[in-house]
Amino acid sequence: MVHTIVRYGQPVLEAKAQAIAEFDTPELHQLVEDMFESMYAARGVGLAAPQIGVGKRIAVIDVTTGEDPAQRIVLINPEIVSRGGAQTGEEGCLSLPTFREPVTRAQKVTVKAWDAKGVAFEMTGEDLMARALLHETDHLNGTLYITHISPLKRDLIRRKVRKLQKAGEWG
Ligand SMILES: [Zn+2]
Repeated sequence: MVHTIVRYGQPVLEAKAQAIAEFDTPELHQLVEDMFESMYAARGVGLAAPQIGVGKRIAVIDVTTGEDPAQRIVLINPEIVSRGGAQTGEEGCLSLPTFREPVTRAQKVTVKAWDAKGVAFEMTGEDLMARALLHETDHLNGTLYITHISPLKRDLIRRKVRKLQKAGEWG
């Protein structure tokens, strides 16, 4: 089922999400599947559960946007275990449509997480994958990418969002 993407301004996006304690349940597998469907429908490469209004520590990533099912990544209760280097690149977020800003992040990160069956794993990503791992893990801590840009640019985005909200053009 495709869910509506929650937009910036909703408290669930800025709250710390709850850890998953029970794995391999039909509910969890369905939620993960719904997250992939919702992400593909929105043409994103990553989605965190709070973005569909669910305050749980689950994120999905597919940098092929559905072209290659083998590239699907499910991160449950992810933790960044190491990071190195730096990269600066344009970043956007499905919860902040139309906005894009350069964000400096680590160039290489290693994440520890669990899959939906409850199997723990570690993965290392570089460049775009490192960016996605950091962006999605941030979401689960209630942090949006605009936290990492200058206060001036952040205020500008906030003001534009407020205008769109008043005009009824922001979901
Ligand atoms: Zn995002």
